[in-house]
Amino acid sequence: MSAQILDGKLLAARLKERLAAEIKTLKDYSKDVPRIVSIIVGNDPASFSYATSQQKTAKELGIHYELQTFKAEAPQEDVMSLIGDLNGYDHVHGIIVNKPLPSSMDFKTLINAIDANKDIEGMNLTNLGHLFLGDSRIFPCTPRAVLELLKSSRVNLKGKRAVVIGRSEIVGKPVSLLLLKEDMTVTICHSKTHDLPGMVACADVVVAALGKPLFVKGEWLKGGAIVIDVGINQVGDKIVGDVDFSSAKEKAAYISPVPGGVGPLTSVILMNNALEAFKIQHKDL
Ligand code: NAP
Repeated sequence: MSAQILDGKLLAARLKERLAAEIKTLKDYSKDVPRIVSIIVGNDPASFSYATSQQKTAKELGIHYELQTFKAEAPQEDVMSLIGDLNGYDHVHGIIVNKPLPSSMDFKTLINAIDANKDIEGMNLTNLGHLFLGDSRIFPCTPRAVLELLKSSRVNLKGKRAVVIGRSEIVGKPVSLLLLKEDMTVTICHSKTHDLPGMVACADVVVAALGKPLFVKGEWLKGGAIVIDVGINQVGDKIVGDVDFSSAKEKAAYISPVPGGVGPLTSVILMNNALEAFKIQHKDL
């Protein structure tokens, strides 16, 4: 039997519809909309490509989007100074620091300089601290996309055994905390884990975020598992995930594809976070 596909594009389209409607109501009611500023340092094409896609999504949703660019050789203090100014502007609700950054810049320093209420990537220490404490605040985008895909299966997650492969700060660790918050029993695996196939075999839910193309095999999976593939790997002219989709779909009950799974949802969740940030800053509305 072949697994049901957890369609990230479809979920992203539905979330966009909901956000656009809510932002329109907000505009009619308060004459204001979420406003975000996205910062790029240097000229890495990947940063510009993310920013172009952010800008397109923001425009579709009625979110005001502004890009601020710095030359690669700009001192970090200049970027810090801009972030300080943006923190102080009531009309700016969200700030994004695009990666990759030049080696002279420290992402953590920059992201931690952002006011936690405007950190729409959910990556500064205050927001990660809230996640650690199990509070509902601004969550990191990719981990939140993983959770939304899982929930779209409509399977009751409480008490289920989850194996998260990868312990990075941007994916593995925050995903694990989000799943724990859903009352799942979570095991985090990494490159030093013994017997990864044995760990995966016990899991009702597998989240693969290791950055190794087609690494997780269908034969490892427990029959009926839910598989969320976070990986984005370029192999020749194709993008593939961390899960060997063709064998995994024969064993799993639900599986997210790559492309078309976590990726499309992540960028819309960034905009959802912008709306959340707006609401946090306008408690009066
Ligand atoms: P990362 O920082 O390189 O972390 C990879 C993690 O996988 C590390 O914790 C590493 O363990 C673990 N790992 C590596 N090889 C392993 C193995 N053989 N067995 C078990 N664990 C292993 O990567 P990342 O930033 O978390 O990204 C992971 C993947 O998700 C990448 O393909 C990335 O492109 C993709 N991604 C997608 C999105 C999206 O929006 N869809 C967003 C971000 C990332 P150690 O800690 O022991 O080294």
